[in-house]
Amino acid sequence: MINNNRDYYKTLGVPKSASQDEIKKAYRKAALKHHPDRNPNSSESEDRFKDAAEAYQVLSDPDKRRVFDQFGHAGLQDSGVGGFRSFDDIFDLFGDIFGGGGVLGDLFGFGGRGRRAGPQPRQGPSLKVEIVLSFQDVMSGVEKTVSLRLNELCSKCDGTGAREGAKRDTCSACNGYGVVNQRSGFFMVQATCSTCEGVGTTVMDPCKPCKGSGRVRVKREMKVKIPPGVDDGSRMRIRGEGEPGDNGGPPGDVYCFLRVKPHEFFERQGDDLYCEIGISFSQAALGGEVEVPTLDGTASLRLRSGTQSHQLYRLRGMGFPNLEGHGQGDELVRVVVEVPTKLTGEQEELLRELAKTDGKKVGPRKRSLIQKFKEYLE
Ligand SMILES: [Zn+2]
Ligand SMILES: [Zn+2]
Repeated sequence: MINNNRDYYKTLGVPKSASQDEIKKAYRKAALKHHPDRNPNSSESEDRFKDAAEAYQVLSDPDKRRVFDQFGHAGLQDSGVGGFRSFDDIFDLFGDIFGGGGVLGDLFGFGGRGRRAGPQPRQGPSLKVEIVLSFQDVMSGVEKTVSLRLNELCSKCDGTGAREGAKRDTCSACNGYGVVNQRSGFFMVQATCSTCEGVGTTVMDPCKPCKGSGRVRVKREMKVKIPPGVDDGSRMRIRGEGEPGDNGGPPGDVYCFLRVKPHEFFERQGDDLYCEIGISFSQAALGGEVEVPTLDGTASLRLRSGTQSHQLYRLRGMGFPNLEGHGQGDELVRVVVEVPTKLTGEQEELLRELAKTDGKKVGPRKRSLIQKFKEYLE
């Protein structure tokens, strides 16, 4: 509807002698100020925004401007001026001003919203895979082969989904933009086109092997090189080995989740390995060489005489290599003195002899503790 009492020059705040450039500038300014994204739920701004558009529609067109200058609104009655049903009409009409890269495009991101940008490249889906490792794998590093089930581009149609030689057709629901504008109350809201799922094209004559999807399910084996020193629960990302992207987007990645199986007798703490071995009382008392397990076999450990139960011995550099290259962990051996549960007659004889040399009666050690405690109380 044309407002018959409106002065378009006043609406845009320009003199009658204004140049096209000045009119354009003034309109941009007004449109920015009253833009619906900036003034949500303001019907006054909505009116101003539409008024400015109407004014610009007339004054930017030399023919209409001449008619307006000469005859006023009456002269424009049948020219189809104004009557914008929605903001979309305004944006459509003044695409040169609102288009991506323009002032409004930059400020409100019309280009970025994909309004006229067409289907956007999208990265393909990433995949997850679990890799189980042994302590030995962590020690030396290892190459593992994993099998993946994933969608790949159909080789028959090169991923287009269209039968050989045929082309994809522009989606009629969204005219190839991949998005549709829906009015939601006061606003225009963009939604992904449901007909083409945002791709902007549809297939009339689908490729047979992939049924028009452009993707086929395949099983693929992949070799993964795992460096030494990795930890349980760590994650490795292998770029570009996931599923193909859409609209020229990059492929997804493969995430390898590493699980390190617990070891029969080793425990891990950082780069160090822990284990426990049993030694006899005489070995503890006299010292000597004992054989201890390592990840790749055995090593010999020299016990000091008078070793106490649960004492820790350190085998330097026998642990895991550090993942970041900071040397190598150690192996820590806890020696536990084991008391025999069965003695031969000879052993018992010898132990009794030994006990005599202590000069003590063989009895519970607790007694002296109780004694000490009593003294303390007195
Ligand atoms: Zn195909
Ligand atoms: Zn569509």
